[in-house]
Amino acid sequence: MKPIQMVDLKSQYHKIKREIDNAVLDVLESSAFINGKPVQEFADALSFYLGVKHVIPCANGTDALQIAMMALELKPGDEVITPSFTYIATTEVVALLNLTPVFVEVDKDTFCIDPEAIKKAITPKTKAIVPVHLYGQPCNMEAIMQIAEEHDLFVIEDNAQAIGAEYTFSNGIAKKTGTIGTIGSTSFFPSKNLGCYGDGGALFTDNDELAAKMRMIANHGQSKRYYHDMVGCNSRLDTLQAAILQIKLAELDSYIAARRKAADYYDAAFAGNPKIQVPVRSQNSLHVFHQYTLILHGANRDGLNQFLASRNIPSMIYYPVPGHKQKMFHTYNASAYQLPATDWLTDRVISLPMHTELEDEQLEFIASSVLEYINS
Ligand SMILES: *Cc1c(COP(=O)(O)O)cnc(C)c1O
Repeated sequence: MKPIQMVDLKSQYHKIKREIDNAVLDVLESSAFINGKPVQEFADALSFYLGVKHVIPCANGTDALQIAMMALELKPGDEVITPSFTYIATTEVVALLNLTPVFVEVDKDTFCIDPEAIKKAITPKTKAIVPVHLYGQPCNMEAIMQIAEEHDLFVIEDNAQAIGAEYTFSNGIAKKTGTIGTIGSTSFFPSKNLGCYGDGGALFTDNDELAAKMRMIANHGQSKRYYHDMVGCNSRLDTLQAAILQIKLAELDSYIAARRKAADYYDAAFAGNPKIQVPVRSQNSLHVFHQYTLILHGANRDGLNQFLASRNIPSMIYYPVPGHKQKMFHTYNASAYQLPATDWLTDRVISLPMHTELEDEQLEFIASSVLEYINS
């Protein structure tokens, strides 16, 4: 059996090695390392795949969130509603721009921001909501968009973990996550569902004006070379990464299918075990399983983690400290927040190996090891 990893990027690379190597060599030969042809070609291909009018590539998923908030002209003191139960980048950017993060609860079953909690957190200062499609599970976008419309708020979807996921509205219209809100952002960090071989990110929108503004912000606020209309930053997707992403985008649907197949395997193996809650799959959305995350009921999580480690099976806690408990946010008095569902999940979640290259014998070994510990 191949060694088990949380993410197996090497095996994935080996399956597309020839194409990738050729694409990389082409970029080297062209020497157009910045803004070479693959950058726009990839953006066009991704906009077609997602069904969104504009894709603006940038340097990483954190920058994407920052550029989105800058383009929406959020000002110091504006409140941004975000889950506490997310990767730090989501909330860090809010604070970096001197905006005020307002931490709210997630739904215990989906790990996604709770629309009822959003409603309660709205004040006259609220300007935006940042739903995070955590672990690849789409948020309840119908409810979120309704709240945003009622209160005239922007919605920035943090789609870093859910590229390719789909959400179906009650009227039957299906949309890819990241294309539903005012702006969507994503990351192409290597371990993400569509990952490059370094850092990368992108923004999505159907709004022409916002797209133009985000392009400018990502490029030093330039409208024309050396004419700077606004303060921006330097955030580019480099040509090598774009060339790699072009190839991997063509594989994305099969990558999603492979992740879902591995999730099916785990689901079946753990079905009916009272101590293990498997990820829910909403009827109206397609979960793309960036992570396969269990909730343990009355089982020793550290013990399980160590038992698995003794068999060379990695497992991870995403994330061990929620946003409102991070020292980073002490100036916002964040520790005073009462977020019992977030704390409850933080104590109980554990993520198992999840990637596109998991083989049946690996899945069987992981699942049977989990059960052996849990049932002992
Ligand atoms: C990975 C991630 C980001 C940040 O992406 P980077 O490319 O690492 O900057 C933001 N939000 C979430 C939810 C993520 O998982």
